Amino acid sequence: MSDKYDVIVIGGGPGGYVAAIRAAQLGLSTICVDNNIGKDGKPALGGTCLNVGCIPSKALLDSSKNYAHMQHDYKNHGISFDNARIDIKTMISRKDKIVKQFTGGIAGLFKANKIKAAHATGTLIGNNQVKLTKGDVTKVIEGNNIIIASGSMPFSIPNVEIDNQLILDNEGALNIEDIPTKLGIIGAGVIGLEMASVWGRLGSEIVIFEAMDSLLAAADKDIAKLAGREFKKQKMDIRLKTFVKSAQIKDGKVEVIYEKDGEQTSEIFDKLLVAVGRKANTDNLLENSSGVELTERGQIKVNELCQTTAENVWAIGDAVVGPMLAHKASEEGIAVAERIAGQHGHIDFNTVPWVIYTEPEMAWVGKTEQQLQDEGIDYNVGTFPFVAIGRAVAMNQPQGMVKLLADKETDTLLGAHIIGANASELIAECVVTMEFQGCAEDLARIVHAHPTLSEAVHEAALNVDKRAIHKVN
Ligand code: FAD
Ligand code: NAD
Repeated sequence: MSDKYDVIVIGGGPGGYVAAIRAAQLGLSTICVDNNIGKDGKPALGGTCLNVGCIPSKALLDSSKNYAHMQHDYKNHGISFDNARIDIKTMISRKDKIVKQFTGGIAGLFKANKIKAAHATGTLIGNNQVKLTKGDVTKVIEGNNIIIASGSMPFSIPNVEIDNQLILDNEGALNIEDIPTKLGIIGAGVIGLEMASVWGRLGSEIVIFEAMDSLLAAADKDIAKLAGREFKKQKMDIRLKTFVKSAQIKDGKVEVIYEKDGEQTSEIFDKLLVAVGRKANTDNLLENSSGVELTERGQIKVNELCQTTAENVWAIGDAVVGPMLAHKASEEGIAVAERIAGQHGHIDFNTVPWVIYTEPEMAWVGKTEQQLQDEGIDYNVGTFPFVAIGRAVAMNQPQGMVKLLADKETDTLLGAHIIGANASELIAECVVTMEFQGCAEDLARIVHAHPTLSEAVHEAALNVDKRAIHKVN
């Protein structure tokens, strides 16, 4: 292959590697430049998602969930154990093996699709050129089109310095080797709550400091309220309207100074996780000559087609506006590759689902009730609790509910919000319905197998029209 390509992709996360595969499928000569180093010190494709995000966090969530069920739930089934134990080193190395399996899988897919992988930092120079830097060596390559998929990195806060030993970011939180007796977390967002679930189930005392007056700002208020109640039962101490002023290491522990209602307090933790959001990663990415502009928030500026302000330069995923979700990044990658090939790649941003992998799980798509009220849209609500679903009770997981929001006049499904077992899988039916501009009545008329958790979606759809069978409407 020459040093000129149809497509240069900068970043090998779920945005970049998927864009590269789709471009290659469409017959475009493609190189993917990625600078990530895996835990073993070797180059590892897959970006945040595979290395320090979605996949490793779900591996730990699953291990810790099994342990928690063994301790608290199995006895309801009549199953008992003597001395249930968990070996954290085995749990972490299982997670590392899964990560390696999947990052290696992408390298295999690249090979099969004849995509060149370059382990280097890519800097956009302009004039369709990208400079690759690896140590002291640099090289310039050219591409007819360039896709930036440089992803995101954690925000930091003043006076709290991450060392990934005692004060951790998401990467450190996935590699703790001894269960902290007391774990402090700054931020009751997605990472904070998922990691609180992992380490809380394993026995850590959890304290979460949250600046806002509710947890999970993006979720529907009813779902967030229910989640808060469940987390309280799990002994998570979530302190709202609380601001961390500083954290410092003292005698091998972390002293956190926080302010609530104008009063400052100090508290000691074994470890502290900082999970206060993420920002677009543009470090060493753009030379002034690149012509690519950033937004006020430091994201790469793009139009609705993911085109940047420079000709033939596209940007996708966490580096641009929109939810920081792996599937959103991947769909943008596919759409951009198809546009480059002259096709009409398309994404419906109104139907991007969210899933939070706590227990119970939370999942939603479309508008929240608050958004509909703010936008002055009239709607009907249908709800149904899992406690009235035979399968949920048989599974010993009766917590949670389904809440559907449908347009008052047309009955079009505008939003679906689920908290409960397997919400992550149940939401797909609602995504499909919304994508086909279906109505609550469509969901109500579809035959749902019995006994399944999906009957809660069916009953919530019936309840939109106040005709649910297994509850009083
Ligand atoms: P990234 O995955 O961040 O990949 C960017 C890649 O580009 C990295 O490998 C980086 O090293 C490389 N790079 C950056 N700059 C350069 C450069 N100049 N040259 C070369 N390479 C460069 N999302 C979900 O949908 N579901 C989840 O369950 C989920 N869980 C998460 C859990 C955690 C703990 C975290 C932190 C995130 C989670 N996310 C989840 C979010 C998800 O990981 C991101 O939305 C997704 O990875 C974004 O993909 P991306 O391709 O845009 O960027
Ligand atoms: P987040 O935006 O979800 O939550 C950050 C929280 O920190 C917010 O509630 C915010 O109010 C709070 N906060 C900010 N500054 C604070 C301060 N100084 N003191 C106290 N609280 C403060 O961010 P995150 O949890 O870091 O996750 C980043 C992104 O990663 C998510 O938005 C999501 O897009 C992605 N992610 C997704 C999943 C998933 O899909 N299951 C899992 C993990 C991460």
